[in-house]
Parts: sequence; C-alpha cells; structure tokens
Amino acid sequence: MPACPHRWRSWPRALLRALLPSACALCGAAGTDAVCAGCERAYVGARPRCPCCANPVGPLDAGRRCGACLAAPPAFDATVAACDYAAPLDGLVLQLKFGARLALAPWMARVLRDSALGAPGLALPELLCPVPLGARRLAERGYNQALEVARPLGAVLGIALAPRLALRVLETQAQSGIAPGARRNNVRGAFALAPGACERVRGRHVGVVDDVMTSGHTLDALAAVFKKAGAARVTNIVFARTPPHA
Ligand SMILES: [Zn+2]
Ligand SMILES: [Zn+2]
Repeated sequence: MPACPHRWRSWPRALLRALLPSACALCGAAGTDAVCAGCERAYVGARPRCPCCANPVGPLDAGRRCGACLAAPPAFDATVAACDYAAPLDGLVLQLKFGARLALAPWMARVLRDSALGAPGLALPELLCPVPLGARRLAERGYNQALEVARPLGAVLGIALAPRLALRVLETQAQSGIAPGARRNNVRGAFALAPGACERVRGRHVGVVDDVMTSGHTLDALAAVFKKAGAARVTNIVFARTPPHA
C-alpha cells in the first residue's frame, strides 16, 4: 500500500491517544489537547502584522504592507502567522519537525484556523498545499511536518487539500543553516509544479502551509511557481514567523 503510508502509521497513534492521557507539551499539565488552554492563552496571541509577509508592525501600521514588501513585492499576496518563532513556541515547531510529536499538528491547525479567521479582510484560499519536502528528507524523517499541519487545517477550514501540487526538485540545505544573505540562492529552482497540476492551479487562490517562515525566500520561490502556472492569488499560512533581526 505505498500510496497511503499514513494509514498504517496513524492508527497506532490514535489508539495511543485514546489510551493515554495527553500532557501539555509546554507545561506538562494533563489534559485532552497537545497544549493546555492556559499555555495557549499565555503564549499565542494576535499582534499587528504586515498582511503580505506577516512580519510584526507597529499598531499604527496594522493592515498596511511593510516597507520591505512595498520595496520588493514577493510572489505571494498574503501571509497568516499564528505566532512569532520565539520561546517557548519555537520548541513546539522543533518537537513536530525533529521529535515526531505529530499530535502537535492538529493543535497548530486549530490555532492557525483561529488566526486565519481572525485576520481582518483575509480571503481564504480555495485549496491548500503544504511546502513539499525533497524525497531524501522525506525518507529520513518519515513525514512532512507541513502536510501534518495542512491536513487538519484543511478539515477545520473546509478547504480541499492538494498535497502534491508542487514538488521539491532540488534538495536544499535547511534555510536555518544558511547565512541570511545566501538564502534566496539556496532555494532558487528548488520547486516545480507537479505534472498535471497546472489545471488545478490556473485562476485559483492557492494556500501554502508551512510550520515556520524564516526569511520568506522558500515561500516566495514556491509562490513564484504557482503564479507562473497562472494562480490568481497565493496566501501563506504558517504557524510561526521568525521576526526580522533588528
Ligand atoms: Zn500548558
Ligand atoms: Zn511585509
């Protein structure tokens, strides 16, 4: 059953969830969700962000594009971020990505749904695509953390999931391990439209899901592929946004 690797991986997890009480990934309190309501209230909160790149802006600039997006508009049109990539929530991103704590993904999806529905004037995409991993990294990790978030996010927003719209055709180094000035080059040519996906993209509003947005170059490169294929609009939906280095 190579077409559906999740089927056999997901049932033992569901069984474990049913048998064991869940502990909050931040404070360890027993509960039913991956993060308890108290920690969610304490650490996740809306703040004014650029509607295009989701970088934090001052309260007077809320709803306006930041200077960087005005000076050099990216290929994507909008970005929703649930939180800054900062302690302690950055630890959740690392646990999902490197610790296989997949139970965090549905929680992140619910938080992202609230952020998307709460973003003033945000148009919801018509289909959701996770940022694809390269074949080698996918084989090493066994799952794509962006797909793990995109799947429940599509379900709670009622948006169709299109997990194979794009392919990562070049294995790139993790952006976090690259000097900021070299990040755009690192992802150049990294993505391509999947064969036959053009029809699904042309004239459509594509949502791109990722766990964390750092420089934005990865999402810019992917959005450029969708725009070249005729996408009407591209909106990024990311759990955490790395604030710019001041
Ligand atoms: Zn907690
Ligand atoms: Zn911006």
